[in-house]
Amino acid sequence: MAGTTPFVARSNDGQPNLAALRKISEQWRESDDAYTRLCRRMSTTLSLETLIGIFAEELAGLVGYDQLTYRHQIGHQDFVYASGMGGRHRCDYRLQLEGVSYGGLTLTRRRRFAEEELAAIEQMLSVAICPIRNACQFAQVQQAALTDALTQIPNKRALDEALNRECHLGDRHQQACTLILCDLDHFKRINDTYGHVIGDHILKATARELNRATRNSDTVFRFGGEEFAILLPHASEAEARQVAERVRKFIAEILVSCGEQQVAATASAGIATRISGETPDQWVARADEALYRAKAQGRNCTRVAERISD
Ligand code: GH3
Ligand code: MG
Ligand code: MG
Repeated sequence: MAGTTPFVARSNDGQPNLAALRKISEQWRESDDAYTRLCRRMSTTLSLETLIGIFAEELAGLVGYDQLTYRHQIGHQDFVYASGMGGRHRCDYRLQLEGVSYGGLTLTRRRRFAEEELAAIEQMLSVAICPIRNACQFAQVQQAALTDALTQIPNKRALDEALNRECHLGDRHQQACTLILCDLDHFKRINDTYGHVIGDHILKATARELNRATRNSDTVFRFGGEEFAILLPHASEAEARQVAERVRKFIAEILVSCGEQQVAATASAGIATRISGETPDQWVARADEALYRAKAQGRNCTRVAERISD
């Protein structure tokens, strides 16, 4: 315990030295040296973007630079922070802690960097590395919580968040948004006939094809076993119908080898364009009803929801 208690915070008789404690707190809050300020500011957030912004700001007060770039691959996302522009002199740092990489930082400017400046940058980085590591790990955990482990696409939780966001935007800006629910046909039979491993291959191929058949602005989710959703911002019912048909065509072209045989699958789709004021549940229920009709009317087809909400 003695080793972890600050020497100045206790008097010789073991009583707390309140004045000294107050002074240490004040020093921490008000100290204006760059390293303490950086440390203090970086301990206030877990947002990687905010952290790198703080670092860029504090470093600029010590070492002038024209451009600062930080780059790190977190899961399947490439995180890039860039501020400023230009300069032919550069210094690069690979950020590492306990053998794990936490990205790369590059500084450029027109003048050469002096040795003292490089030492100051390294000192600043030694303060920043732990908060940056924590923010990277936090971002990774957040990403994993929203990603389906098998197909590596956004999961049900991500869909719920996206539907809430779209409902909010739709009511504020009268923005159209269409939901397509897509369910593989007789998938249980495929599993029973060829086994779960083949079923899993088909699910992974389906996720890949859904992404291929849609635009970058559309998002594909796996929200149940063999159930997928596509959210199409700004898309009308007619546009969504074309997307659904393309998606079904792409799925129908999937072939997974199982010994001598090639296994194929089809899908049914239900489409619902959001009606103003509709909740996520009401919206999904209409798309689900359309999907149910597609199943009831023979599968391997698309149906559009009624425009009446509950
Ligand atoms: P329908 O055409 O009416 O949709 O029939 P279906 O057989 O596709 O629907 P059902 O709901 O009866 O069966 C869904 C199947 O999906 C059952 C389940 O074993 C399978 N499934 C769910 N998740 C996974 C998974 O992660 N991997 C595999 N291989 N199969 C899964
Ligand atoms: Mg199914
Ligand atoms: Mg299903």
